[in-house]
Amino acid sequence: MIRSLSLVLLSGILKKCPRCGKGKIYSKYLKVNKHCLKCNEELASYRTDDFGPWLSIVVAGHIIVPLVLSLEKNYALDLWIQASIWIPFTILIVLILLPMSKSICLAILWRLKMKDKENSLNNK
Ligand SMILES: [Zn+2]
Repeated sequence: MIRSLSLVLLSGILKKCPRCGKGKIYSKYLKVNKHCLKCNEELASYRTDDFGPWLSIVVAGHIIVPLVLSLEKNYALDLWIQASIWIPFTILIVLILLPMSKSICLAILWRLKMKDKENSLNNK
């Protein structure tokens, strides 16, 4: 069964299995299940490496930088006030985006059939 790229990406955004779109990808915050609990698709052999954190930082930067510049231009708050606003907000945004970014990467790798053959569960 081949799902369309848009459905696979939607599954990634929703942190669901790219094959069936129903099973959860994660057992914990960023711990990928070995298999989908609904369709038994192997998930652990897709290595997302640093793409998830990279995508999280890029998206968070595009959200936060315009807000920082807008606040600076309109209100020119003291640096310590800006830091006390933006540092926790940035950490929060990245922590929210990170699982989503990693699951989008896993979904793309699944769609491209780029399984890590050395660490595949079928080879063990
Ligand atoms: Zn599944």
